[in-house]
Amino acid sequence: MRVPLLDLTQQYRTIKDQIRQAIDEVCDEQSLILGKHVERFEQSLTAYCQTRHAIGVSSGTDALLCALMAIDIRPGDEVICPAFTFFATAGSIARLGAKPVFVDIDPRTFNIDVDRIEQAITPRTRAIIPVDLFGQMCRIEQINQIACRHGLLVIEDAAQAIGATRHGRPACSQAFAGCLSFYPTKNLGAFGDAGAICCNDDRLAEKIRKLRVHGSGHTYYHDMIGGMFRLAAIQAAVLSVKLRYLDQWHQARRRNAAIYDRILADTPILTPYIEPDNHSIYNQYVVRVPDRDRVKQILAERGVGSAVYYPLGLHLQKCFEYLGYKKGDFPETEKASREVLALPIYPELTEEQITYAARTLRSIVLEEPFVSD
Ligand SMILES: *Cc1c(COP(=O)(O)O)cnc(C)c1O
Repeated sequence: MRVPLLDLTQQYRTIKDQIRQAIDEVCDEQSLILGKHVERFEQSLTAYCQTRHAIGVSSGTDALLCALMAIDIRPGDEVICPAFTFFATAGSIARLGAKPVFVDIDPRTFNIDVDRIEQAITPRTRAIIPVDLFGQMCRIEQINQIACRHGLLVIEDAAQAIGATRHGRPACSQAFAGCLSFYPTKNLGAFGDAGAICCNDDRLAEKIRKLRVHGSGHTYYHDMIGGMFRLAAIQAAVLSVKLRYLDQWHQARRRNAAIYDRILADTPILTPYIEPDNHSIYNQYVVRVPDRDRVKQILAERGVGSAVYYPLGLHLQKCFEYLGYKKGDFPETEKASREVLALPIYPELTEEQITYAARTLRSIVLEEPFVSD
């Protein structure tokens, strides 16, 4: 049996006619950037994320960059983020000349360790970017409290977590700004790059809308220096169709996760821990396994795809050498980098496929001797 890590063609086949129709409409109109399809999608997104505003942008990375520009992050500022996340979280900070200040993760959830945030705050700290890693929300209410005590702003990197909830409230709805990615591998994926920023603050939303088009309120008159962060109409049209199915896809991922949870219980494999207050959308189903790289190799030989998110903490990336971090600074991040393995979880997988993947992993880990690093 073959169980690929992800197969987007299966999902496309189920909604092909509607997608083609939506794309056709944009083609016929030839109004290709922003416009009514983007506005329509933004409307649906505000309802889905329960925020006053949603602004479609060119990617999740640009959502982060644009949100940081909107709160005037400048050279000399410090912005706190976890050491264990996708590069864009910290890259967007550094691109503005500001300093990413890393914090280790909670080993159970892989999200930023809330108890270590305060010790990373200095007089130069301006903002915190917590990440909702793998589809589980960070402890946003505690992070907001810390931010409030120190006069900081919270930008939630919800790129992997659209539709996830905590205490019943969706990702993006409680941060000053929430950033979404519609990269094709996310739960809501466009047909190319796309993203959005959600927020409740009217002035912030207005500023982001300007920054999205080179800081211009009226065409060719620029109030500030922005960027090219526009969303393409075709992407918005595709996303509007897909948004209608999103909850049903989340549901299928949760069903798949429950099968893994059951089969992998009582083994040395650590299955995802979801806090009781959280509802994960399982953008990734990430386990910890001993001797990870060898397990990954054997899984591949037996037809099961898997991936390592992420093999190296951001504090140890070559491009961040200038920040002066060293090996050992964030032990939980470094341990996670050695142990994590993402398994196939996409909604269209059959129960047989998930069961096969889970049993294969189980047998590999149980048959072979533990080899510690
Ligand atoms: C995917 C992702 C991003 C960036 O999104 P793009 O649309 O690929 O630019 C940012 N942060 C996290 C945590 C992500 O997973």
